[in-house]
Amino acid sequence: MSLPTEAGDLEAFLSSAKSICVLTGAGVSQESGVPTFRGADGLWRKFRAEDLATPEAFARDPLLVWEWYAWRRELIHRAQPNAAHMALVELEDRIAAQPGGRFTLLTQNVDGLHERAGSRNVIRLHGSIWRLRCTRCDTEREDRAVPLDPFPPRCACSALLRPGVVWFGEPLPEREWAQAAQAAAQADLFLVVGTSALVQPAASLPLIAKQNRARLVEINPDPTPLSDLADCVVRGKAAETLGKLRKASEPRP
Ligand SMILES: [Zn+2]
Repeated sequence: MSLPTEAGDLEAFLSSAKSICVLTGAGVSQESGVPTFRGADGLWRKFRAEDLATPEAFARDPLLVWEWYAWRRELIHRAQPNAAHMALVELEDRIAAQPGGRFTLLTQNVDGLHERAGSRNVIRLHGSIWRLRCTRCDTEREDRAVPLDPFPPRCACSALLRPGVVWFGEPLPEREWAQAAQAAAQADLFLVVGTSALVQPAASLPLIAKQNRARLVEINPDPTPLSDLADCVVRGKAAETLGKLRKASEPRP
C-alpha cells in the first residue's frame, strides 16, 4: 500500500526541515495502552477532572487523588513505548546529525514514555507522573516505585507529597514554557501529534511557530481547532502514521 498524499507531503517537509519542533499529546501514548483524556474512551468521559486533577481536589481529598494517580502509574509502568515514540527518536537522531540541525520534543504527556524510548531533547510541559513534590517545602524527587510505599507518600519533612504534574488551574513550569516558546519560534517545521490542541497554553505553541513562518503539520485522527491553519494534515493515529514514515525512510534494497 502506498502512502496517502498527505503523508507524502509530510515526508517532503521532513526532508527539507532543519529545525523541527514536535508537540505531542495523549494520542501518542494511546497505542501503548495509556488512556487518553478527551477521546471516545477518554478518562474524562468516566471521571470528572475537577474531582481528580485540580489543587482543590487534592486539598479536599488527597487520598482519592493519590489513588487515581497510583492507578495511572501502574498502567504506565506496564506500558511500552510504541511506533510513534520510536519514530520520534529516529527523527531526532536524523535531524540532530545534520549540521545546524535542531530537534525539540514538547510533550503534554506525563508518562515519560518519550524518554524511555530514547528521546533526548524533551521538554515536559505538564510535569511527570514519576516526580513527587512536597506540599509544604516544595522539595521534589523522582520515585518510580509501583506501588508507592508508604501510601500516600510523604516528604522527609512529614508533609504530604503530591504528583509532580500540572493540574487544571495551575500555571505551566516557567522555565519549560520559556524553552518551549523559544523552540517553537525558531522552528521551520512544527508537528502537532496526537493532541486535540485544546488545552492552553500548550495549544498556543503551534501558533507561535506559525507566526514565525514555520510550516505546520497536524497528525491526529480527528479535526482540531488547528486543522484549518495546518499546511498539511494527516488523519490517522500517531503510531500508525509515524510508523509508516519509519518504514518509508528505511533504505530500500
Ligand atoms: Zn517537605
